[in-house]
Amino acid sequence: MTTAAQSIRELKAPAFSFELLPPLKGNSISRVYRTIDALKDFKPLFVNITSHRDEVVFRSADGGLYERKVTRKRPGTVAVAASIKHRYGIPVVPHIICSGFTRSETEYALIDLNFLGIHDVLLLRGDKAQRDRFYEPAEAGNAYAIELIEQVNNLNKGVFLDETLAEAFETPFSFGVAGYPEKHEEAPNLDSDLFWLKKKVDAGAEYVVTQMFFDNSKYFAFVEKCRAAGITVPIVPGLKPITLKNQLTVLPKIFHTDIPEDFAKALRTCKTDEEAARVGVEWTTMQARDLLDNGVKLLHFYTMMATQSVRKVAEQIY
Ligand code: FAD
Repeated sequence: MTTAAQSIRELKAPAFSFELLPPLKGNSISRVYRTIDALKDFKPLFVNITSHRDEVVFRSADGGLYERKVTRKRPGTVAVAASIKHRYGIPVVPHIICSGFTRSETEYALIDLNFLGIHDVLLLRGDKAQRDRFYEPAEAGNAYAIELIEQVNNLNKGVFLDETLAEAFETPFSFGVAGYPEKHEEAPNLDSDLFWLKKKVDAGAEYVVTQMFFDNSKYFAFVEKCRAAGITVPIVPGLKPITLKNQLTVLPKIFHTDIPEDFAKALRTCKTDEEAARVGVEWTTMQARDLLDNGVKLLHFYTMMATQSVRKVAEQIY
């Protein structure tokens, strides 16, 4: 079975992959299928499925009070991955995160994936809880992606959390990790971020998928810095078409990425979200062409609220 990492390394022609979110709790998987139906013509090398921690929500209760509830709004990463693989035969890369999960829960998810024959994963620390100002690891959870990598490497050697299991089976997980062309928000500087990225690669990550960026020069500079730091694995660029006017300010705040002034100016003049989406498609298409012209083989697209825009970009590129 070819792993996602092998497929990336062996690419000869421009290729397409994308990330999608499991539906919000209460919604049907048909939303996921609609996204795949809209994009499968471009022969995705694989589809990533995100993973999400629990969040605290407050609901109105009697007497003007609020009730505090902890809820996982987007469960189902493993099941969504399995259903895509089963229904479409497209390779899947579910995300496994530290945030909000104990090591035991992570092990159960990995055991489920192994039973399902899904062995490609993207290993991440995960976002902080929306209620928190700072990231807090779960009690008995992994604090950083590197610790999660250690857990997966152990399973790959047949070492489970329950060390009494003698001669347990070895899993064949292959994994990628995240990288940040404009630096992770908590890193004191890019070199320090690359120090930890190199640790993740040295520990076995076979490729890096980047955070979204809107300025290709940031990606090219990042790749150059990675190579100088001895990070030699493929670095897959992550692209997101802007689809709403307010994303001009929302995306930089959430993803800590700059929007170049030319693009910002064009978005500022848009009167409607439809216009913004058109400008967004033009910009991402320009980015995609430039990346391919400069030797990049695989472009990875973020589809959240952008499936139709990703389709329009892909129609022009592939
Ligand atoms: P890490 O590699 O653990 O790094 C986190 C920070 O700590 C960095 O600043 C790093 O420099 C530093 N650092 C790393 N190791 C150490 C250490 N041992 N000691 C001290 N400092 C250290 N979030 C989700 O919740 N779900 C998802 O599905 C998801 N998918 C993503 C997909 C991609 C492609 C990307 C780019 C991001 C995704 N995220 C997702 C967001 C990601 O989880 C957050 O950006 C998170 O804050 C960092 O994750 P990481 O794996 O890069 O963390």
